[in-house]
Formats: sequence, structure tokens, C-alpha cells
Amino acid sequence: MSRDYFRVLVVNLATGKGKVVKMDGRDRHLGGSGLAAALFKKYGHVDKAWTEPSQPLIFTIGPLTGYFPLMSKTVCSFKSPYHDQYAESHAGGRSALSLRFAGYDGLVIIGRAPALSCLIIGSRQLELKDVHYMKGIDLQKSGKMLRKMIGGAGHRSILRIGPAGENLLPMACITVDTYRHFGRLGGGAVMGAKNLKAVAILGDGIFDLPEGKTYRNLFEAVYQQLTTTDMMDKYHNLGTPVNVAILNGLKALPIRNLQQTTDPDIEGISGETFANDTLLRNTACAGCPVGCIHIGFVREKFMEPNQYLYRQISYDHEPIFATGSMLGMTNAFKVLAIIDMVEKMGLDVMSAGVALAWATEALARGVISEKETLVPLKFGDADGYKEAILHLGSMSNDFYRLLGQGTMKAVEHYGGEDFACVLGQEMAGYATGEVFFTSQALGFRHSHLDAGGYSYDQKQKDKDPQKAVEFLLKDEQGRVLLTSMVSCLFAREIYKEQLLAECLNCLGYRYLADNMNEVAQHIQKMRWQLRLASGFDPRGVKIPKRFKEIITWKGEIDENYLNTLQKEYGKRIVELGRAEED
Ligand code: SF4
Repeated sequence: MSRDYFRVLVVNLATGKGKVVKMDGRDRHLGGSGLAAALFKKYGHVDKAWTEPSQPLIFTIGPLTGYFPLMSKTVCSFKSPYHDQYAESHAGGRSALSLRFAGYDGLVIIGRAPALSCLIIGSRQLELKDVHYMKGIDLQKSGKMLRKMIGGAGHRSILRIGPAGENLLPMACITVDTYRHFGRLGGGAVMGAKNLKAVAILGDGIFDLPEGKTYRNLFEAVYQQLTTTDMMDKYHNLGTPVNVAILNGLKALPIRNLQQTTDPDIEGISGETFANDTLLRNTACAGCPVGCIHIGFVREKFMEPNQYLYRQISYDHEPIFATGSMLGMTNAFKVLAIIDMVEKMGLDVMSAGVALAWATEALARGVISEKETLVPLKFGDADGYKEAILHLGSMSNDFYRLLGQGTMKAVEHYGGEDFACVLGQEMAGYATGEVFFTSQALGFRHSHLDAGGYSYDQKQKDKDPQKAVEFLLKDEQGRVLLTSMVSCLFAREIYKEQLLAECLNCLGYRYLADNMNEVAQHIQKMRWQLRLASGFDPRGVKIPKRFKEIITWKGEIDENYLNTLQKEYGKRIVELGRAEED
């Protein structure tokens, strides 16, 4: 079972050829986030622009993928079009299991295809198909075409981009098997720059499971915890949208470009309303018995007098906050209709929603005009936002071209920085306070998943910056361990250190089981080293005024505390990045 090396497929799109490389370092780099960083060190260039064809697009899985439930994520790493620095994005779907069945710990894609292409890889297959006829085709249509074209349904994973990715917009995502996404920091544009419309991973091989009772009993114990205790219940039940009403009650839900943190009408887009009115079914990533992916529907009249079609759309807290509360929407079906348009264009839903919230306020304040927005953006007007998303994904004019590069790029040109809801990238759906704002603004992925800052804000009343920064660094280290495995972070209360060690031991990874903390520390440092070497300077990060004006259940934001946190966390990040030598 255990391998002390990584088996990596390296594909050069310029030649259409690939080779399988054995890479040492399992005991040092573990997999997932660690392997992705090690591969970027080997194949990437911190000093060259993200558009360079030689820059790699990397996908990695972990040592437990395929062996234990919820080890179901894939890490994607690249030089980000958003800030031209080293970045990671994570997604599930069938991607991780397909890579495992194909026999690879990692996939590295370099070069640029001569024409718009689809890369198909499997355990015995590598093909670069010319799909120039799919140029400009939206994600839903291209999904149908690709599924027809590529065999192996059920065992394959298809990663694809929409018009936003082809237009090299830093807000472009990579969609995985329709309902999951490498959403943030512009992986879709990296595929676009490589002339890559899609990557299909065929899970067409087999792998052996450990013999004997130890593995079987351990698997059973994990499975039981996941399915018979209430630890994962909230994810299957209402799912992450349960947070909408909770955060609204706490005065911590970003609403109308964060002009408010609570709204009496939020019930219309609560998790309960989505479940009661729109939910069709739950689905799951491959290898997950939880099934937290909630699928709702949009219904559209396509012909008079009474011809309708419906499409299935996945929803979560983040898309609901970004296209719902941030845009003043209080109707669940209208939110799904906006998400549907975002999906078609292949945009990151959080970035697109938050950027349009800024544009709406900028228009109301006269910072920009309808000459720029082309549509009269108004909070609560779903039709206007659907049209604006079409313009954003297709880069209809200079304004949308700039906005698609990130709100701050539009701010540089038009002004309106004070009310830009950007923390390193467009904010996530938690207005909980100083620790979360610091965590997202400076965090490695600028993500709410880098560390539990939002939870710290809710639990800790004291204002001790040293203690808060220690928490962020330690929590990040724990999450780095999980994202190197690569576990779904929803299972973090189950996959504690002892269980992880048992799982690793049972597959023969004894050194890793005994040295998890040291390995996680090394990976944490290696990632920060790459980030700093590719240009990140925490001292240059600004937290816009809007975040300092809000009222949460704790009262006003404490600007001194926020500034101290930012300074201290930035200092520690620089120390971490400098400490790594190999
Ligand atoms: S809990 Fe949800 S996101 Fe996590 S692996 Fe299962 S289906 Fe995927």
C-alpha cells in the first residue's frame, strides 16, 4: 500500500506527450498541499509571470485517498492570475478518486496546447483532443458535449472552464463534475492560458486494499462515526446554508455590500427556505457517505405558451451569501437563477457576487455610471445581475475586463476603495470581526478555510493579539495536515491526530504517523516560502474602511485591535517563510 515515492504524470501540452515521474519525498511532503508545493518548487518559476506556458498547473491527492471516506479532495496549485503569486485551490467531486484509480499521486500540466484542447488521461491513456469548436461555449453546454465525447461515466472526472477562463479572467474557476469547483484565485484562467478547455481523468485502473482485519475494522469504525453519530448531520441535513440564519442572528452576515450585517427579511434565503422550497436532492463527492451537496432547481420558460425547462443548481452558504445577501436578494429562486448564470460563465461565485455588490454601491454613489455597468444594477434586481454576469464573463467592455481581474483592479481605475469588500480577494461570507478579517486578508489562500478565525471571533471575548495569532498559525498547521492528506475539512472533528495516525499506520506510512506535526510544520513553511518568494508582502495588505465601519453582535469593530493583529500576523508569516531552507 505505502509508497515512499510519489507517482506523478507530467504532461507537456505543446507536444501532447507525457511521462510518469517517480518523485522522492513522501515522508517530507506527505501529499496534497505538501506535494503540490514540492512539485511547484520542481516545475514552477516564482520569478516568471503566470501566463508563461512553462508555468505548471498541478493537481495532487493524498496517501489516504481511496482508502478512507472523505479523503476526497484534490489540491490544485498554480501561479495565480489574481495576484501572480503561488496559490492553492481545493475541490472534490470525483477528481481525487479518479486520480487514485488512474494510479497517480499528482498531475503536472506544462506548456500551451496549439489549439483549444481537452486533455484525457488514464492509467494507460494520454490524449490531447482538439476541441476548438467549443470556444466560447458555456459550461453547461460544454459539459454535455464532453460527457458524450469521453467514455467511462462513473469512473471519470471532468474538469472544465467556461468563457471566463478562456478570456483569462482572474475570477475564472475550474468546474469539477458540474457541482464542485476549484473556485478561487483564478485556476480557470490558468487553464485558459494553456488553451485547455477541459481535463478528463479516467479512473480506469485498480489498486489493492490492505489485507487482514486491521484495515477493514478501522474503515468500519470511521464509516460508523461518519454515518451513525450526529457529527456530520448538519452537513447532510440543511448543509452549510444553515449558517445564513445563524450569522444573520449574530449580526455577522454580509448584506448589501456589507452595509448591513443583519436583515429581518433574510428568511427568504435561509437554509430552511432553500430546503423547503427548492431542494431536489443531495449528492456527494466520490468516496463520501455524507452527501453535503444540495441541489436545487431553476425553472425557465423557453417557449410560449407553456413550455418550461429546469436546471439543477448546487447551493451552499458561500454562493448564497455572495449572490444573495450581498446583492440584496431575499428570494431563494432568484439566488439560484444568478448562481446558474455564474456557473454558465465559469466564474468564481464568491468573487463575482462580491465584485458586483461593490459595483452596485459604486453606481449608486456616482463613482461609476451606467456607461460602465451597461445595466442599471440595483440591490434586489436579479435580472440586472444576470445580465451583468454575462458581461463580466464575456468581458463586454473595459469596466468588466477590470472588474473580472478583481474588485481592487477596478478600484485602482475608478476609485471606491473604502467600500470594496476585499480581504486579499473578495470576502467570504462571515462578518464576524477582527480575527476573521485578519485571517482572510493575510491567510495563505485568502480563504475562510485557511484557519478558523470566524469561529475564534465567536468564542473568544478577550482581545489578546498574541493569543489570536498563535491560534491562527496553529490552526493553519492543523488544516495543512488535513489538506495534505487530502481530507474534506468538514471531517476535521473526526480525523483528529490519533485517527489520522492509525489510518497512516494501517497503510504502512509509519514515519508519517509518528511525525505528523513536524511534517505539517515543514509543509506550512514551504507554502509560505513559495508565497513570499513569488511576491507576497503582508505589510502591503490593506483592509478597506468598510470592514471597520460595521456593527456586529460584539458592537463596533476595534480598529486598534485589528491593526495590531494584522501587524503581528504579518510578522509571523514573514518569519515562517524565511525559516524554510530546503
Ligand atoms: S462532506 Fe460534502 S464536500 Fe465533503 S466530501 Fe462529502 S460531499 Fe464532498
